[in-house]
Amino acid sequence: MSSDHALMDGELSGFRGELLRPTDGGYSASRRIWNGAIDRHPALIALCADEEDASAALKYALSRKIPLSVRGGGHNVSGSALAEGGVVTDFSALRGVAVDPDGMTARVQPGALWGDVDSASQKHGLAVPAGIVTHTGVAGLTVGGGFGWLSRHWGLTSDNLLSVRMLLADGSRVRASEDENPDLFWAVRGGGGNFGIVTEFRFRLHRLGTHVLAGPILFRADQAREAIAFYREFIATAPDELSVYLNLRTAPPLGWVPAHLRGTEVLLVIPFYVGDPRQGEDLLRPLRAFGPPAADFVGYKPYVEHQAMFDAGVPHHWGYYWKSHYLPPLTEAAVEVLLEHSWAKSSPASYTLLFHMGGAITARPKDSSAASGRDAAHAMNISAAWAAGGPSHPDIAWCRDYFTAMEPHATGGVYVNFLHNDEGEARTRAAYGSRYDRLAQIKAKYDPENVFHTNQNIRPAPAESR
Ligand SMILES: Cc1cc2nc3c(=O)[nH]c(=O)nc-3n(C[C@H](O)[C@H](O)[C@H](O)COP(=O)(O)OP(=O)(O)OC[C@H]3O[C@@H](n4cnc5c(N)ncnc54)[C@H](O)[C@@H]3O)c2cc1C
Repeated sequence: MSSDHALMDGELSGFRGELLRPTDGGYSASRRIWNGAIDRHPALIALCADEEDASAALKYALSRKIPLSVRGGGHNVSGSALAEGGVVTDFSALRGVAVDPDGMTARVQPGALWGDVDSASQKHGLAVPAGIVTHTGVAGLTVGGGFGWLSRHWGLTSDNLLSVRMLLADGSRVRASEDENPDLFWAVRGGGGNFGIVTEFRFRLHRLGTHVLAGPILFRADQAREAIAFYREFIATAPDELSVYLNLRTAPPLGWVPAHLRGTEVLLVIPFYVGDPRQGEDLLRPLRAFGPPAADFVGYKPYVEHQAMFDAGVPHHWGYYWKSHYLPPLTEAAVEVLLEHSWAKSSPASYTLLFHMGGAITARPKDSSAASGRDAAHAMNISAAWAAGGPSHPDIAWCRDYFTAMEPHATGGVYVNFLHNDEGEARTRAAYGSRYDRLAQIKAKYDPENVFHTNQNIRPAPAESR
């Protein structure tokens, strides 16, 4: 079992967590991640009990010259949490969140999920801009930039990061913040897992309260053209307190969906308002009156309830394939692409999601961190999803065709955390945009041998250009 392996493996002799090799019980379950289309076989899964364990796993991978990956929530669609034939530094057991309500900060361990952070901070009516699915990992989302319902009001997730503790490629342990290793801190807020292993995140919290005015408004597919036309005008003057997302999908068989609409093609227009609900009600009145919609589920509800709204629609171990764009404000031509492609899928689980960007995301200078998306009106995620899992499905072709049709209407940029593993280097560069060269310089300083490469990789700047 694992302890025998540990005795044999010098660097791992003091390992306090659990070590899983392919022949160990528990290995098969531990190598499963959110995306059931990914089938990788690491040589070792190191279930870390603390930072020392992560350090031992890193040393082990370096001494064996095998790849190393880091697993936070295991949600990255590309499967980057799992290094084929390598070592997985797995933080699944480290999900602690310590909230300081007076200081309005939270310390978060690297295996925490957003549901962990939301529930700990909401006990005090506090929140940090999170992702919109509670079973997504904090770590990967934050180092990629991160956005969700609170971002138009309080910025990207990574804009609310105060400091990190990190384990670097040379084995050293450092802190990074605006005052300590500021170049590393700039890079780790958007540059992904390229610079080291984050072993603790410290976030600034905001006074949200426990309830928000939010929820989906359903339109039938035959109402979608007019509803989106109205939406475009409506959000053009939306204050930062308001976000309105679009979700084009098959209505799921969930309790809140009226029985007669389940299984039909629908457009969900989903407003989310931060602030006095009476002001929010006034603001949302025209949006809710338009149509009229087929159903309206906007209400004043617990934030944690709204946060869990999409959870059941994207369960673990289904097969997923994503393509993504950043979009400028929607043009009529872009809307035509949405209407032509959104429902031309074969799986009821496949969907299109348009995040609403702008507001506080855009208010910060474009180069204030390595994160992308400050110049976009929307992040568009085209998700092929199939319940059977496994590597292939006809909706992968749907997803690719749809992506290509939308390309002329997109900004050319893309959110690094929505990239799959078949996109190629040009697309990776597009994700880091004009920040790529600076990132490559910082990479050369902190990880010159590119130890952390099982990700959307930034190559270290060549020696002659450093
Ligand atoms: C259902 C779903 C919903 C999502 N919703 C949103 C959303 O609302 N907003 C949004 O911004 N994104 C969203 N995402 C994308 C999400 O940001 C990425 O999938 C992200 O990588 C998830 O983080 P994780 O820790 O779960 O990932 P993992 O797969 O565990 O890790 C992904 C990568 O992150 C890096 N990483 C992980 N842990 C560390 C660490 N401790 N130190 C350094 N690097 C690390 C590594 O490079 C790793 O390969 C969503 C994803 C899914 C699947």
